[in-house]
Amino acid sequence: MNSILIRGGRVLDPSRGFDETADVLIVDGRIARVERGIPASAEVLDASRKVVVPGLIDIHVHLREPGQAHKETIQTGCRSAAAGGFTSVVCMPNTAPPLDSPELLQGVLDSGRRADARVYPVACITVGQKGEALADLPALRRAGAVAFSDDGFPVGSEDLMRRALEQSARLGCPIAPHEEVKALTAGGHMHDGEVSRALGIPGMPAEGEAGMIERDLRLLEQVGGRLHVLHVSVARAVDLIRDAKRRGLPVTAEACPHHFVLTDEAVRAHGTLAKMSPPLRSAADVEAVMAGLVDGTLDAIATDHAPHAADEKALPFDRAPFGIVGLETALGLTLTHLVTPGILSLSGAISRLTCIPARIMGIPGGTLQAGDVADVAVIDPDLAWTVEPGQFQSKSRNTPFAGWPLRGKAVATLLGGRITYREA
Ligand SMILES: [Zn+2]
Repeated sequence: MNSILIRGGRVLDPSRGFDETADVLIVDGRIARVERGIPASAEVLDASRKVVVPGLIDIHVHLREPGQAHKETIQTGCRSAAAGGFTSVVCMPNTAPPLDSPELLQGVLDSGRRADARVYPVACITVGQKGEALADLPALRRAGAVAFSDDGFPVGSEDLMRRALEQSARLGCPIAPHEEVKALTAGGHMHDGEVSRALGIPGMPAEGEAGMIERDLRLLEQVGGRLHVLHVSVARAVDLIRDAKRRGLPVTAEACPHHFVLTDEAVRAHGTLAKMSPPLRSAADVEAVMAGLVDGTLDAIATDHAPHAADEKALPFDRAPFGIVGLETALGLTLTHLVTPGILSLSGAISRLTCIPARIMGIPGGTLQAGDVADVAVIDPDLAWTVEPGQFQSKSRNTPFAGWPLRGKAVATLLGGRITYREA
């Protein structure tokens, strides 16, 4: 028997309202007991003054394989996840080629089995993400897809989106579109506002996001199915989703740390390291995203971890790719900018990073009950640290948060009882 005792921590499991000082005994990869005063017959991991939570779950990452291993691989992306306290990641299909066949999904699943996090792939809505023909969603679902998305590209065709939603009802998993009206955002590279005008960079108006969400909520109301809205960044989108939930529509949504921490002002200082899609928005949008997280309109916190090589991000602003890495800063940003100021409770933040995202994607994890697989994160909520991209486990370093002081960090991560990360 292989066992490990996580001793003396504050065990916080929002999935069942558990919040007590206790020991966690792990035997053969599963949680055997959670109680006080378990005798140390095993390897001991001291968790005094730490918080022991279910392994974090990120339902929006880009692992870049197949095809773009110079940015990230499934192995490096999962090491980055482990360093951030994550034990499960849901990866997007905008790889090269895009994940639109059972064979391609199988390749990701096979590599994921050897990685330091559980990998749950999302498959394409349309063949090749071209927006022309629906992919074989039932076959992709059988092959292991947990959701469908053309992330990076919107589904412009209303007819295709309607049919995808119809199928999602039968397949029991969400359609998670990248919400963007290309007619409004074409040629844009950052949020359309005062800063874009001052910098002379073509803008992407807020309506370019909200307008497509409005369409998809209308389709959802007409045909049913399940809709998960990725990376919500504008106030009107939060309002639309809040209203849809009030009317009982089966919609969920997520917010990314950069959208509740930064405004478009960050583009002035950080250039392409503050370029992502949807872009950083106005202060009023940031407030609305935070309010949406607080009242549950936005269900989960997800990173949109989007690694790019340094030379790609060194291109002029209008040619550099969209996206920043996020797995190793998400927890620190959430604790520092939502929990410390009292916007969310610690339990509220952890639920949005564990049991709620698990429920959205219908994947295991997000709990710490006896009998469960031992996916665990040990967090030091008081650890003051500085973001040093050179220390990232990710292959890429594209972050606007270099040098930022943060408070709170995962100091140990366990995947099925195996230590995948431990703070030196
Ligand atoms: Zn997207």
